[in-house]
Amino acid sequence: MRKKILAANWKMNLTQPQVLDWLKVFHDLDWHQPQQELRIYPSSIYLKELVSTGLHVGAQNVFAEQKGAFTGEIAVEQLQSIDVQSVLIGHSERRLIFKEDDALIAQKVRTCTGAGFPFILCCGEAIEQREQGQHLAHVESQLKSALEQFDPAQHSLLTIAYEPIWAIGSGMSARTDQISEMHAFIRDFLEKELGAIAHQIPILYGGSVNSQNASELFSCPSVDGALVGGASLDAQHFHQLWQALSA
Ligand code: PEP
Repeated sequence: MRKKILAANWKMNLTQPQVLDWLKVFHDLDWHQPQQELRIYPSSIYLKELVSTGLHVGAQNVFAEQKGAFTGEIAVEQLQSIDVQSVLIGHSERRLIFKEDDALIAQKVRTCTGAGFPFILCCGEAIEQREQGQHLAHVESQLKSALEQFDPAQHSLLTIAYEPIWAIGSGMSARTDQISEMHAFIRDFLEKELGAIAHQIPILYGGSVNSQNASELFSCPSVDGALVGGASLDAQHFHQLWQALSA
């Protein structure tokens, strides 16, 4: 059985005192659920402090090169050296705002796999692509390019997050039929590319998941969990998603 994952992407939010407040609320709640994995992707300045709490802590970004003159960037080996456990690759904000293209994303995937470092590979279409019926082809091309040299033997490093761009931060999540269609498509693609082990790779949904819609979204059999932005910034709210995932 695939594990369920609930991942908080804090993006460029929360000051140090707010992180401490978040942790205070977090520690007062019951997160015991052996079948589920909780992950926090904070700004990099908080990584070490959060790692010390024993949580699964991941980075929001990593550079494709291994070391050297890349001011402002962070290497996989540096993340591993402070026990960060995974990283997001290909988030739409990195693709759109920071102009990360498919080639760079593929290079990041290779760097992570080369280092045996787990990653969540994000994919998803823009609203225009969906309206033109191009959403499946677009996601396929994103995955094809990112996973071109991916070795199926390393499948345990890979998690996919389907995040339609129009649903991220918009308050309007995708409908369950849209998510089911895309998740089934991604699963088929993975099976074609990687074989039967594809069924062990978690596929998450991301895009305006909140306490109002979580139960419905998590009732989709193809949804193995969620990558959550806005609703993860409040530990109490995030806990409601955790409970919805376990229901
Ligand atoms: C995200 O950025 O990965 C995300 C899903 O954001 P939100 O939950 O705020 O839509």
